[in-house]
Amino acid sequence: MSNGSSVTSAPPLGARCPICAGTPRPIGMVGPHPLLRCPGCRLEVLDPQPTDAALATIYGKAYYDAWETGTTAAAVRALKMETFRHRWRAVAGRLPPAPAVLDVGCATGYFMEVVREAGGRPFGVELSAWAAERCRAAFGREAVFRGELDEATFDAMPPDGFDAIFMSDLVEHVRRPARTLLAARRLLRRSGLLVITTPDTGAFSHRVLLQRWPHYKPEHLYYFNAQNLSVLLEQTGFAVVRREVVQKTLSLRYVINHARRFGRWARLARGLGTVLPTAVLDRRFRTRTGELMVVARPGLEL
Ligand SMILES: [Zn+2]
Repeated sequence: MSNGSSVTSAPPLGARCPICAGTPRPIGMVGPHPLLRCPGCRLEVLDPQPTDAALATIYGKAYYDAWETGTTAAAVRALKMETFRHRWRAVAGRLPPAPAVLDVGCATGYFMEVVREAGGRPFGVELSAWAAERCRAAFGREAVFRGELDEATFDAMPPDGFDAIFMSDLVEHVRRPARTLLAARRLLRRSGLLVITTPDTGAFSHRVLLQRWPHYKPEHLYYFNAQNLSVLLEQTGFAVVRREVVQKTLSLRYVINHARRFGRWARLARGLGTVLPTAVLDRRFRTRTGELMVVARPGLEL
């Protein structure tokens, strides 16, 4: 997912938590960026946020290439497709036949592909011009909007809105999560479903790893837990219908290739990558990744 080019400066949150209006306190650093936690709702925020220029440097084509370093694109694709098929099956039974489904932060379109193979009509929103073009080539120009969700329009959208909107690993990246959720509310039909996955500060891995938690990254501007994300959803016109712990399909090779990007774990990762046999490196497994999934539907009128 990508973010940020249309905002000209990094807006400081100032003293207020955007969910409960508490006063966030410093608890550490994520790279050069101060990390704060709200004592009221435990939302964690980077403040000040990285500048647009800093985010643009992070979200280049290399951001997507990083999925594919040191292994074949086909292997990464297979892992992501399996993760997304599980996510799809978690809500597919609640959707009408041939549902119109929007993926916000569709990247290179793996989830859109899962929607299409399941008989749905996939749509996507993506800020990266490079990734959006890739999706347009695969799914048609009318199916992909390049930009922010709150500016998105679709000629082919059903008149009463999408049947489902998915935000996988997205809400932690956007500068104003409430604005993104309000936009989703406007684009979703009355009986539609919003499915969010995001890192979970209530996860066991967060308590154990503390500042070493791998979800702490400069491009992650907000860190939610199940409770404060539910409050934010209610504030933006949603009712939460389900919350669960996320599992992803991974291989050791994939984990190692990601870890090589982090200074603290890089040496260990490189060592394991050279000593372990291929069969061990490429075996797929499902595991908790310190993320949560929340399913919500439009609630009371705003
Ligand atoms: Zn708060």
